[in-house]
Amino acid sequence: MARMTQEERFMREAIRLAKKAAALKEVPIGCVIVHDGKIIGRGYNRRTIDKNVLAHAEIVAIRKACRVLGDWRLEDCTMYVTLEPCPMCAGAIVQARVPKVVIACMNPKAGCAGSVLDMFHEDGFNHQVETEVGLMGEVCSQMLKDFFKELREEGKRKKKEAKDREAGRHEEAGAGMSGDHDPHDPVHESGHGDKTE
Ligand SMILES: [Zn+2]
Repeated sequence: MARMTQEERFMREAIRLAKKAAALKEVPIGCVIVHDGKIIGRGYNRRTIDKNVLAHAEIVAIRKACRVLGDWRLEDCTMYVTLEPCPMCAGAIVQARVPKVVIACMNPKAGCAGSVLDMFHEDGFNHQVETEVGLMGEVCSQMLKDFFKELREEGKRKKKEAKDREAGRHEEAGAGMSGDHDPHDPVHESGHGDKTE
């Protein structure tokens, strides 16, 4: 394998975090924030397990980076994220004045770094965010595709299992009914009869 660049190393860490989300059956999205060549914030999507819409990878990472720097401004930081940020996260990135975001793959359905909206290059805001798109993009989009494929297959599996259980119940019910006409009952009775005699 070719020597990894510094940027690839950071994105790989974001991917590692995204896989932690996937292991929890969360949509695999991971994020790191780098300051002075060091990771100061890590996050992965935990929306479902935390039952909290704010628990996106970027927000989690921003929270941690702010704690490390002791500042709400993340002015000399670069964020690496596996998927294009949503409106909430893009807003937080602008608010935190993050100067640069490296995005692995775009999200045509919800992304706000150029897909649905471009909140990072909005002249009306007093802060613009430099973006770099496509670093390890193939890996990240494949990771999402695999996750959703697995989710669909699991859905199908569960549906089939439920159907099989339902069919099993009918069979059992059928067996029970034929049991009512079973010669077992008369034999049992006659057994009793024998004993009492
Ligand atoms: Zn988000």
